[in-house]
Amino acid sequence: MLDITDKLRCCGCTSCANVCANGAIKMLPDEEGFLYPVVDKNLCNNCGLCNNVCPVENKPLQSEEEKKSYVTRAKNENVLMDSTSGGFVTPLITYVLERNGIICAAAYDENFKVKHIIIEKDWKADDLANIRGSKYVQSDLGNCYKKIRKYLEEERTVCFVGTPCQVNGLKSFLRKSYTRLITVDLVCHGTPSPKLWEKYLNYQREKYSPQIKKISFRNKTYGYHSGTMKISFANRKPYFGSARVDLMLKCFFSEIASRPICYQCPFKTLDRCSDFTIYDCWHASDLVDGLKDDDKGFTNVIVQSKKGEDILDLIKDKYDIYSVETKKAIKLDGIMVLNSAVPHPLRSQFYIALDKYDMKEIVQKFVPIKINDYIIERLKVIIYHMGIYRAIVKIAKK
Ligand SMILES: Cc1cc2nc3c(=O)[nH]c(=O)nc-3n(C[C@H](O)[C@H](O)[C@H](O)COP(=O)(O)OP(=O)(O)OC[C@H]3O[C@@H](n4cnc5c(N)ncnc54)[C@H](O)[C@@H]3O)c2cc1C
Repeated sequence: MLDITDKLRCCGCTSCANVCANGAIKMLPDEEGFLYPVVDKNLCNNCGLCNNVCPVENKPLQSEEEKKSYVTRAKNENVLMDSTSGGFVTPLITYVLERNGIICAAAYDENFKVKHIIIEKDWKADDLANIRGSKYVQSDLGNCYKKIRKYLEEERTVCFVGTPCQVNGLKSFLRKSYTRLITVDLVCHGTPSPKLWEKYLNYQREKYSPQIKKISFRNKTYGYHSGTMKISFANRKPYFGSARVDLMLKCFFSEIASRPICYQCPFKTLDRCSDFTIYDCWHASDLVDGLKDDDKGFTNVIVQSKKGEDILDLIKDKYDIYSVETKKAIKLDGIMVLNSAVPHPLRSQFYIALDKYDMKEIVQKFVPIKINDYIIERLKVIIYHMGIYRAIVKIAKK
């Protein structure tokens, strides 16, 4: 019987809960707000399947095929500007959907909780927009793995996008390889808890307006390199906050809020079980001779399998795409491909204090935002509206 006593041994992937035929395992939040499996002993028959499908205990086979790497950018300007980096995912999932395939990827629900959703048919552009973009919080997979298995058994094509632990969890759960399964894993430095995200959302709703319409963790109004949270409301102008001053981004980037196992992630390796590994591309012009960085973003892609290579060949006309050296791309942009993040020294105290303080107080207590940060942020907005923002960023980079 599964018994999670060491939180460093559970990534919350849900493979155990999905595999249990008796429904004996539920994913329940701990005091930090991360989901962990809890077994109902009355329903458990000790079959041991839950332990067998745990990707932390039994890592699935990682591809050792020769890797090819690319810097990519979606040709569709709207998709590019709405995506986190170069918008690799949208053309891929559009291709799959147009061929009667199925998509499972992270999206917002009506209350802006982050969940994996399944798109099967009758999809609209809005569904793709909801999937687009990184949400820096742990996504709830619910019973998606079970549904994916059903579709694969019906010989439907499924494309799954998720963090490395979620892709490993899916592969462990399935326990056999399916040619019709396409997987994309994001290079990930950690996922904050849904409880922290909820607290942040409530803070923003109270401060600005309860009627949130759209959220982007990495809006590009001030450029790809700016990393800005944008929240659009129904009845007021949008909120913008860069990682310098935004309370959620501050927690995410200061490494104070991730799930415990993220700091010793077992899935940090170049060889992965996915077909594609994608990550931020901050050094496009250093990776590709003659390529100008216009601050709209590119995505680094590692093609992990022959299947991935064949699919990319079919959709490559949807991207600007440049072949690059894997080693060089990882050296410049991919430190998180191979390494886990180092936790903030106050990480445990932060979560213990989470219920005691409001969102602003807790950030000020643990990862304080200084007055200078607010001044720089204000100046940035003024300079942007004067129309000289890009020129100043260019000079600052030299
Ligand atoms: C929690 C998290 C941490 C990350 N950390 C790093 C990092 O340290 N270094 C780095 O280079 N890149 C990191 N990334 C990846 C990066 O943010 C971009 O997703 C990547 O550059 C691809 O951008 P894109 O424009 O091609 O894709 P997009 O079109 O923006 O698509 C992103 C895809 O990610 C999926 N997704 C979004 N949020 C989640 C989530 N919470 N859980 C699972 N899947 C999700 C969506 O389904 C979407 O399909 C992280 C992403 C996440 C979600």
